[in-house]
Amino acid sequence: MFEIENNMDLLENGNLLPLVEDFYTIQGEGFHSGKPAYFIRLGGCDICCRWCDAKFTWNPKNHPPVEVRKIVERALSFPAKAAVITGGEPTLYPLEILCKELKYHNIQTFIETSGAYPLTGIWDWICLSPKYQQPPLAEIFPIANELKVIVEKIDDLDWAEENAAKVSKDCMLFLQSEWSKYNEITPIIVEYAKQNPKWNISIQIHKFMNIP
Ligand code: SF4
Repeated sequence: MFEIENNMDLLENGNLLPLVEDFYTIQGEGFHSGKPAYFIRLGGCDICCRWCDAKFTWNPKNHPPVEVRKIVERALSFPAKAAVITGGEPTLYPLEILCKELKYHNIQTFIETSGAYPLTGIWDWICLSPKYQQPPLAEIFPIANELKVIVEKIDDLDWAEENAAKVSKDCMLFLQSEWSKYNEITPIIVEYAKQNPKWNISIQIHKFMNIP
């Protein structure tokens, strides 16, 4: 893992977070697809998916810590009713202060996580996107609201089923083509979902809409 040198004490108690970017947009994937939401993207991830479309987030040193108070102030300048905390891997940091502040202002808190680290924060919606290089911790499966598996090759459907067997019965299940393999994989996951209708298809609509 990259070392975070600056403001370690404050990072540890969650008053500061290594912010990559924050912006008001439309959630483009999974269950909340199409919903307006304030995105808060944090830096730092050591899972290193080959196809990651957020490699610029990996090294937190490139993303100086920002006060949570300022992030929330910016979120409040928009009429957002939900915030999506993503990364990188956001659970590398204590997120309780951020979540409490957002919820205090009636903004729902959604997280996108690989589940590879202990969960931090207080969440209205947990989207678990498991990565086989660093599988999720057992504790995240029963509390995930949504399981979103990125499919790059047919074998990933086995990985999807392995994870689906561990989540709660209420957890929504999504298969999503890895973006660079969209044309090749989409017909496969569509047919798979039709044959196994517990699964839904997630499409990265923001990429078709050309919005961040
Ligand atoms: Fe990228 Fe997410 Fe994989 Fe980290 S877990 S490398 S941010 S896709």
